Amino acid sequence: MSIPFIDFKEQNRLIADEVDSGFKKVFEKGDYILGEQARLFEGAFAQYCEARFGVGVNSGTDALHLALLALEIEPGDEVIVPTHTFIATALCVSFAQAKPVFVDIEKDTYNIDPQSFRKAITKKTKAVIPVHIYGQPANMDEIVSIARQHGIKVVEDAAQAHGSRFKGKRVGSLGDVACFSFYPTKSLGACGDAGMIVTSDKDIYERALMLRDYGRRGRYEHKIKGTNSRLDTIQAVILNAKLKHLDQWNKMRADNAAIYAQLLKPLKGVVTPITRPDRTHVFQTYAVLVPNRDKVMEAMKAAGVGVLIHYPIGLHLQEAYAELGHKKGDFPVAEDVADRVMSLPMFPHMAREQIKAVAAALTKALT
Ligand SMILES: *Cc1c(COP(=O)(O)O)cnc(C)c1O
Repeated sequence: MSIPFIDFKEQNRLIADEVDSGFKKVFEKGDYILGEQARLFEGAFAQYCEARFGVGVNSGTDALHLALLALEIEPGDEVIVPTHTFIATALCVSFAQAKPVFVDIEKDTYNIDPQSFRKAITKKTKAVIPVHIYGQPANMDEIVSIARQHGIKVVEDAAQAHGSRFKGKRVGSLGDVACFSFYPTKSLGACGDAGMIVTSDKDIYERALMLRDYGRRGRYEHKIKGTNSRLDTIQAVILNAKLKHLDQWNKMRADNAAIYAQLLKPLKGVVTPITRPDRTHVFQTYAVLVPNRDKVMEAMKAAGVGVLIHYPIGLHLQEAYAELGHKKGDFPVAEDVADRVMSLPMFPHMAREQIKAVAAALTKALT
């Protein structure tokens, strides 16, 4: 049995009728840019996040970049970022001409380590970007409390965690501003690039609205220097249709994760994800630690199982950030995870038989 890393056929079937009629309406109306469906989705998704405002943008990367500009992060400022994440978490800081300051992660959740964050704070630190990695929120109580003590803004990178909760509260409502990606493979994915800034702060909201639309307020008045980064109305049709299913699909992912955990428990040297009792995990990515990762990956691929690595190289060791002068050994927890982590196939409609086949392939790969 060959098992893809992701298969959205069933999701697409469930939304096909709504998407067809939604597209038809957009074509008839012609409101392709900042149209009705985009506005509706901004409201619906912000509400889903238990926040007041949503600003649809071109991508998760743009959401992060514009969120930092909305917070008035300036050249010379420092922004603290976990080293174990997708590079967009740091690139947005560089695009804002500020300096990303990398820190280590917790060894069980793979999220930013609050004490490492505390130790990295300097007079120049203006913001921290906790990433809810793989779908489980970071320790937001500690991060927000440390940030408040030092007057630091908290930007959630929630690109992997649509719908998950920390102490009952939804991600997107836990810091000053949150950033989501709707890249096709995310838990809530468009059919192209899309993203959103979510906040309950009216000033951040109003600046984000201008920043994504040439800095304008009204048609001809430009208050600040903005850019062109708007969520397409066509993509919003798809996202509106999928949002109605998101809780159900997240539950299906969690059920699949529970089956994986049970089947993989006997395997020596394999570490399955833990979920802290005060939060939920939406398993956008099902990441396990395995011994002899490269050999195991090859065996999995040979068995027809789609596997990937999120992420094999810490940001502090990427060539793009050579200027920061980091070396191997600087962030031992993150480096150990990067050496052993492997992502298994995960999607809501994965059949139990498929999960069993992945577990069997992994069992065989380890012997
Ligand atoms: C996907 C992702 C992004 C970037 O989102 P895009 O929509 O691809 O630009 C940022 N941060 C994290 C953690 C991500 O997983």
